[in-house]
Amino acid sequence: MKWSLRIARFAGIDVFVHWTFVLLITWILLTNLGAGRSLDESLWSIWFVLSLFVCVVLHEFGHALTGRRYGVKTKNIVLLPIGGVANMEKMPEKPIQELWVALAGPAVNVVIAAIIGTILYAQGKMQLPADPSGAINTGNFMFNLFVVNLWLVIFNMIPAFPMDGGRVLRALLAMRYDKVKATNIAAKLGQVLGIGFIGLGLFYNVWLVFIGIFIFLGAGNEASYESTQALLSRYRVADVLMRQFTTLHVWDRLDKAVALLLNGQEKEFLVEDDNRIVGVLTREDIIRGLQQSNTDITVGRIAKTELVQLSLDMSLKDAFEQMAKAGIAISPVYENEELVGVVNQENIMELLMVQEAMAASR
Ligand SMILES: [Zn+2]
Repeated sequence: MKWSLRIARFAGIDVFVHWTFVLLITWILLTNLGAGRSLDESLWSIWFVLSLFVCVVLHEFGHALTGRRYGVKTKNIVLLPIGGVANMEKMPEKPIQELWVALAGPAVNVVIAAIIGTILYAQGKMQLPADPSGAINTGNFMFNLFVVNLWLVIFNMIPAFPMDGGRVLRALLAMRYDKVKATNIAAKLGQVLGIGFIGLGLFYNVWLVFIGIFIFLGAGNEASYESTQALLSRYRVADVLMRQFTTLHVWDRLDKAVALLLNGQEKEFLVEDDNRIVGVLTREDIIRGLQQSNTDITVGRIAKTELVQLSLDMSLKDAFEQMAKAGIAISPVYENEELVGVVNQENIMELLMVQEAMAASR
C-alpha cells in the first residue's frame, strides 16, 4: 500500500493506516491546544479519535470476515482520516450473501454501542454529561464513544452507494429484480438522496454538502460498474476474438517491433519461443525499451512474461477480470491447446461502447 503504514495483522488481513492520519491527529491536537486546553486534556481527544478508529476497524472486519464465509478474500483494510475501507476482491454474487456482508459492518457498531450502553446504564451514567465546552474527558469519554457508534450505524445505513445501506437496499431489490435493475433503482435513489443532502447542507451544515457529493458520485459509479459487468457476462471470448495477429520471436530485435508498430494497426504483440507463447509486448514496453537502450536489444528482454490463458468459451467478464488483475492488455486464446487468436482490452472496450451506445438509442 502506497503512503500507508502497516499497523496490525489479524485473521490474515493487514491493517494499514494512511499517512494523512497524522494530519488529522495534529489538527485535533492543535485545535485543542488553541482552545486553551492543557496537553493532558487535549490528549483525551486524541485517545477518543483512536478509540473511534478501533471501532471503525472492527466494523471493516465485520464486512471482511463475513465475506470470507462466502469465499470472498479481503486484501487489506486501510484507515483514512474519513473512515476505513476493506479492500474486498468483489461482493458476493448472491443477494442474500451481499446483504449479510453489508449488514455485518454496522452490526459490529450496534454490538459495541450495546456493550458500552449496558455498562453505562449499570453504572447509572446513561445521560448526557454536562460539559458545555464539548471537550472529551474521563467523565464523558465512554458516553461519547457510545453516541459515536450509534452515529456510525446511522451514517452507514443511509440507503445510498457507497454506504453499506446502499448495498443492503440493492441486495433487497435484487431478490425481486435482476441485479442491473436493482442497482439502477438503488443508484437513482442514492442520487436523489445525494441532491437532497446537498440542498439541506447549503442551509444547515456544509458537511452535508460533502456527504451529498460523495453519495451522488458513488451512486453513479456503482451503476455504471454493474451495467458493465452485466454486459460483459453476456459475451464470450469468441465474440471478440481476433484471428489476425502478429507474433514476434524472443530473438527478434526491437527495431522489428518498432517497424510493426509504425506500419500497422497493432499495438500489442504476442512473443513466442519454441512455438510456445511466452510473453506479450505492448507499445509501452517498446517505448520503454527504446528509452533504455538501442534497437539492438532483443524482444525477449523487454517483453512481459505474465500471461493469462483464455479459452474460446470463457465468459468475457472472467477474461476481462483476469487480464485486468494481471495488468496485461493482450492475451492469447486457445482451443484444444491450440492458439487460435488474441483478445485485447481495446477490443473489449469497443464492444462495450458500441453496446452501450445501442442501449442508449433504444
Ligand atoms: Zn461498512
